[in-house]
Amino acid sequence: MPDVPGTADVVVVGGGVHGASVAYHLARRKAGRIVLLERKFLASGPTGRSSALVRRFYAMDFLTRTGNASASVFQRWSEVIGGGDPGFRQVGILWLAGPSMTPHLRDNVGRAQALGVRVDLLAPDEIQALVPPMALHDVALGAHEPESGYADASATTNALALRARELGATVVQYVRADAILTAGARVTGVRTEAGEISAPAVVVCAGLWAARLLAPLGIDVPIAPKRHQMCFFRRPAGFASHPGVLDRPQSTYMRPETGNLTIHGLVAYDEVVDPDDYNEGADPEEIVRNAELIARRFPMMEQGLSMGGYSGVYDVTPDHQPVLGPISEYAGLFVDFGWSGHGFKHAPAVGDILAEAVLERKAKATSCPARPRPTRPTPSAAARPAPPRREEAATCRREQVRCRRSPDCSTGSRSDR
Ligand SMILES: Cc1cc2nc3c(=O)[nH]c(=O)nc-3n(C[C@H](O)[C@H](O)[C@H](O)COP(=O)(O)OP(=O)(O)OC[C@H]3O[C@@H](n4cnc5c(N)ncnc54)[C@H](O)[C@@H]3O)c2cc1C
Repeated sequence: MPDVPGTADVVVVGGGVHGASVAYHLARRKAGRIVLLERKFLASGPTGRSSALVRRFYAMDFLTRTGNASASVFQRWSEVIGGGDPGFRQVGILWLAGPSMTPHLRDNVGRAQALGVRVDLLAPDEIQALVPPMALHDVALGAHEPESGYADASATTNALALRARELGATVVQYVRADAILTAGARVTGVRTEAGEISAPAVVVCAGLWAARLLAPLGIDVPIAPKRHQMCFFRRPAGFASHPGVLDRPQSTYMRPETGNLTIHGLVAYDEVVDPDDYNEGADPEEIVRNAELIARRFPMMEQGLSMGGYSGVYDVTPDHQPVLGPISEYAGLFVDFGWSGHGFKHAPAVGDILAEAVLERKAKATSCPARPRPTRPTPSAAARPAPPRREEAATCRREQVRCRRSPDCSTGSRSDR
C-alpha cells in the first residue's frame, strides 16, 4: 500500500475530475501541502465513463458562468493550465427544442448571451443548412454554440492531477479515506487505510461515495446512484460527422466519437444501483431503443451499425444540482459532489472557486490578511466566471443536506431548476 503523508494543509478526497481540479487550483494558488487521495486510480469512477460534453449555458446563471468559463479553459488549455491535453474537440453543440420548449430556450439563450456566452438561436431552415442529414419534423427552434464540443474525461483528470503534482501537490492512488476526523466543530484530518493525515481542511470530492464519509459527522445527503447507459453506432459512408446534439423532443443526446462513431444516450434514467456492483454493459433492448431514436433524428443511420455500449452511474441529488461549498457546521470542511450527470464540464472553473473558498476560510482562521498569490498564469478574466453571487455559491439546499447536529443547518440556499 502506498504511503500517505502524516500532515497536510488540505486533503482532497476523490480523484475524479472535480478532486483533480480542486487539487490543481489549490497547488496553483500555493495553498500549502496539498494531498489528493483516490481509493482506486484517477478517473476510475463516473468521470472515466463520462461522455464529457463541454457546453456553455444552463437554466441557472451560476452554471452558465461555470460552464462558459470552463469551456474557455478547454479551448485554451495549454495557455491556462500549462500542461497535459484534455482531448478537447470543438465540434459545436446544437440544442433542439420542440414547440412547447421554445419560450424556455429563448429565455435561457437570452440570459446566457447577456452573460457573454457565444450562442445563437437558429430557425429550422438554419439548422438544416448547418446539419443537412438531420430530420427536423418535430423541431421548432435550435440553439448553436459554435465554440463548444467535448473532451476526454480521463485525459482531463490526469492532466489536472499532473499539473497539481508539478506544482507540489502529493497525489496518492489506491488508498481509501475511511473517516473525516474532527475535534468539536472543526476538521482535524482524514483517517485512511494507510494511516492518518492530520490537516485543518478537507475537501470531499467523493461523488457517489461522499455520503458515507459525511454521515458519521451527522450530515445526511440523499444521493441516488442511477445507472446511465450509453450506446455506440458507426455512421455509414457519406455521413462524415455532426455536432454534439441535445435533443429535447426525443429526450436524448449524442456526440461524435473517434472511428466514425456516434455515442448516443437518453437523458433520463431511473434504475438505482449499487455503484460498487452494477451491470457495466448496455442492455440489448436499450441498444435497440437508442438505435430507433438516432435513426429518427438522422434517417441515414438506418444504414448505421450498432457497436455495443456501456453504463456509468450518476450521483443524483433531489434537485439535480450539486452540493458545493463549505459545510458551516465544521470549520475546514468543504464539499463538491452530487453533480447529477452534468458535472464534467464545470470542473475547471468550480475547482478554482472551491480553492478560493478554502483559502478564504484559512485566511480568516489565521487572521492573516495576505492571500497567497498564484505563480502560474491564472485563467484570464475572460476564462474565469464572474464571482457567483453569495446565494448561488452553494447550491445545496436545506432539504438536501440535513445536519443532525443543528436543526438550523444551512449549507446553501437556492436552486432555480
Ligand atoms: C455515462 C455518463 C455520461 C456523462 N456525460 C456527461 C457529459 O456529457 N457532460 C458532463 O458535463 N458530465 C457528464 N457526466 C457526469 C460527469 O461525468 C460527472 O458529473 C463528473 O465526472 C463527476 O466528477 P466527480 O469528480 O465529482 O466524481 P467521480 O468521478 O465520482 O469521482 C469521485 C472519486 O472519488 C473516489 N472516492 C470515493 N470515495 C473515496 C474515498 N473514501 N477515499 C478515496 N477516494 C474515494 C472515487 O473512486 C472516484 O474516483 C456523465 C456521467 C456518466 C456516468
